[in-house]
Amino acid sequence: MSGGKGTVLLCEDEDNIADLVRIYLEEESYRVIRAKTGGEALDQAARQAPCLLLLDVGLPDMNGFDVCRVLRERGNPVPVLFLTARDSEIDKVLGLELGADDYVTKPFSPRELTARVKAVLRRSAPEIAVAAVAVGDAVIDAARREIRLAGQNDPVFLTAKEFDLLWFLAENKGLVMSREQILRNVWGYEWAGETRTVDAHIRQLRKKLGDALPIKTVWRVGYQIAEH
Ligand code: CA
Repeated sequence: MSGGKGTVLLCEDEDNIADLVRIYLEEESYRVIRAKTGGEALDQAARQAPCLLLLDVGLPDMNGFDVCRVLRERGNPVPVLFLTARDSEIDKVLGLELGADDYVTKPFSPRELTARVKAVLRRSAPEIAVAAVAVGDAVIDAARREIRLAGQNDPVFLTAKEFDLLWFLAENKGLVMSREQILRNVWGYEWAGETRTVDAHIRQLRKKLGDALPIKTVWRVGYQIAEH
């Protein structure tokens, strides 16, 4: 059983947890490669082009948050699913300045782990019927999953979740979408998070897109991309 659904990079220093995760995922036909340190994970992420990074927070050389940050600074868009052990870590993942896609809390059942993995992969590669949408001074290219702003040569890098959120607002441009609607559609019903997750992502999008693609806050309701 290998490679059927793509390669998952597992960064976990504890052998017993890593072995379990490997068994769960190989049973679902994923190929699993393992890193034991943050440094190894960064190295493997660049060389192996995994479809997902399962990232432990407590690692011997650096913490998982820093691994994720460095990965994004290097422009690597691989979806990241954190393996968390404590509530304080979950809060940090939910702060989502990190560009993480989701988290699983230890101890987890095989079923929960594989459900989260599948959900992240589904969201990071959704089937989108329309190829591209022009909004404001930007073109959102769904096939390449990138944003091009007028007058700029390089596309803007977005995390998988930021892209999905922007796409959802763009598809519904002219309409105000509530935080609850956004959570349901972008994060999915299985997501147990809060609406502040939406706010955090909107902040990130505004930082990256600036005035080229303004996202309006509608007081007490939600967010909107105006129709131009
Ligand atoms: Ca650990």
